[in-house]
Order: sequence, then C-alpha cells, then structure tokens
Amino acid sequence: MNNKTLGIIKPDAVGNGFTGKIIDKIISAGFKIKAARLMHLSREQAEGFYEVHKERPFYQDLVNFMTSGPCMPMALEKDNAVAEFRQLIGATNPAEAANGTIRKDFAESVQNNAVHGSDSDENAEKEIAFFFSSNEIHD
Ligand code: ADP
Ligand code: MG
Repeated sequence: MNNKTLGIIKPDAVGNGFTGKIIDKIISAGFKIKAARLMHLSREQAEGFYEVHKERPFYQDLVNFMTSGPCMPMALEKDNAVAEFRQLIGATNPAEAANGTIRKDFAESVQNNAVHGSDSDENAEKEIAFFFSSNEIHD
C-alpha cells in the first residue's frame, strides 16, 4: 500500500482556522482525500496513536495537546504517498521546515506543528486502520 498515507490536521491548526488552507495545499500537491473526519480524540485514543513515543519526555504534553480540541485525520492517496507527504509537511520543528511546507506556513512550535504524516508504508497502513474502517475509505 505504498500509495496511501495518514495525515492529521492537528488541533492547533484546526483551532487557528487553517483547515481549509491546509486541505487546499494537500489537494494542490496532487493528493486525493479518500477519507476524512473532524474528531476530538479521547485521551485513550491519543495515547494509543502515539504509543511509539510513550518513553519520550514530551509524551504527556503531546497527548494533552492532541486532546485539546478537534483534529482532522485523513487517508490520502498519491504515488509514493508517505515520502511525498512528509516532503509537503516539512521538518518536525517548523523553525527547520523548508519554505512552502505546511509546517513552515502554519505550525506554532515543535509540538504544535499543524500536521501529522505517517513515516513508513507499514505505519501508514496501521494509522489509516486506527481511524477508518475499510467501508469509510472511498475509491
Ligand atoms: P513527526 O510528526 O515529524 O513524525 P515525531 O514522530 O518525532 O515527529 O514526533 C511526533 C510528534 O511529537 C511531533 O509531530 C510533535 O507534535 C511532537 N514532538 C516531537 N518532538 C518534540 C519535542 N522535542 N518537543 C515537543 N514535542 C515534540
Ligand atoms: Mg512521526
């Protein structure tokens, strides 16, 4: 499944009114939205999604942030989707993100960095399944 990735417009960007601008950049970059939902994550959901980071010092703050307001997970399709989307969103720290990337334009900080993107095909598949059942992913 190397043509799909999971993106999330994070609570900072939704709260700052950037949802539409970010979706426009994603579509303009050639991605097709196959599933999307506005949802307020429970603590359990945020902890589960970021379980891989549970030993990191920023984990509890990250969970607090991700549960601070609604976010928008979406299943995205494009050839080489994982790498292409990581390039579109830019570096984790917006201070290091390249010009024109979503994080450069819309992120507030290394934590409140506007968007998530899967980091491998294997994780993309897991993360899409975390948020969407197969009948919610459109052809
Ligand atoms: P990415 O989202 O670019 O794949 P990571 O997987 O390393 O980055 O981290 C997951 C998320 O945790 C980041 O997007 C960011 O919201 C948060 N984060 C990462 N590093 C830090 C940090 N040093 N301080 C605070 N939050 C961080
Ligand atoms: Mg990551």
